Amino acid sequence: MLTPRNQTFWKTMKFGYLIDMDGVIYRENRLIPGAVEFVNALLSTGTPFLFLTNNSAPTAEDLTVRLRHLGVNGLSPKHFYTSAMNTADFLAETHPSCSVFVIGEGGLLTALHDYKIANDAIRPDYVVVGEGAATTEKLAKAHECIERGARLIATNPDNWCPVSEEKTRPGAGAITAFLEASTGSRAYYLGKPNGYMFHRARRKLMESALNFSGPVAMIGDTMETDIRGAVEAGLHGFLVLTGSTQIENVCDYVYQPSRILQSVADLTEEILTGKAASHFETTLGAPRNTGGKSGHRHQTDVFAFHKPRPRPAMTK
Ligand SMILES: [Mg+2]
Repeated sequence: MLTPRNQTFWKTMKFGYLIDMDGVIYRENRLIPGAVEFVNALLSTGTPFLFLTNNSAPTAEDLTVRLRHLGVNGLSPKHFYTSAMNTADFLAETHPSCSVFVIGEGGLLTALHDYKIANDAIRPDYVVVGEGAATTEKLAKAHECIERGARLIATNPDNWCPVSEEKTRPGAGAITAFLEASTGSRAYYLGKPNGYMFHRARRKLMESALNFSGPVAMIGDTMETDIRGAVEAGLHGFLVLTGSTQIENVCDYVYQPSRILQSVADLTEEILTGKAASHFETTLGAPRNTGGKSGHRHQTDVFAFHKPRPRPAMTK
């Protein structure tokens, strides 16, 4: 929320941006109005930015093409960081000679392959779970590997992912929960809101912008992942209202965004001129919403239907 006391800060600071995609740049196959102009402003001003997604299925090349088809041009694979890449970074840093059994799609397989992490369906060090590709046979094989001593890692804690406004599909968190239940093992969840995701993304952003030393803001539409992760990583969290969060639900959370924007379009003028726009003020402290789907169903909370208290995704 913009206050007179911090107006000077917002007006004078040039930000680098970590940007969520679904609910921020597009929803389903439709661009959020103003998203193209926002990205063009980032590109034309040389503002450091990186798209940050928990979707482990696509590669950075896939995402570049997807955005181009939606009408966002000028991007390249270096502009994307996925939870699959984060998982590969984590394993390469903590256990570089490890082997893995993978339930996941191209983005995850490619990221692990880039680090030459070997596949092993007999006695792997880790079972790594991402989006998609979860057949009964693969789950049974993963279960066997865990019983033989493999540790369980998920690319992200999202239990469901949006397919359309009416439809969702199971996410990596739900598939991982299946294996946790069957084996009694506890998984480690990478991706947002894990601080390792934000730490590595911030490092990648800084490496791509050598002269940049300003603050970094995470722009996202989901409180449990984007804003929580930003707060815990010591970054600014800019919430947009074009996705999963409604303004009346923001006060339900103990962690709060630094700013609330109607959409990324609110930032375009600011990026182009270097002066903070005045129309992003939003009223916090609105009445708590006690109804509606989003108020009951946290994306990272596997027990949301059974327990009213959200489970912290990273503290299992
Ligand atoms: Mg999102």
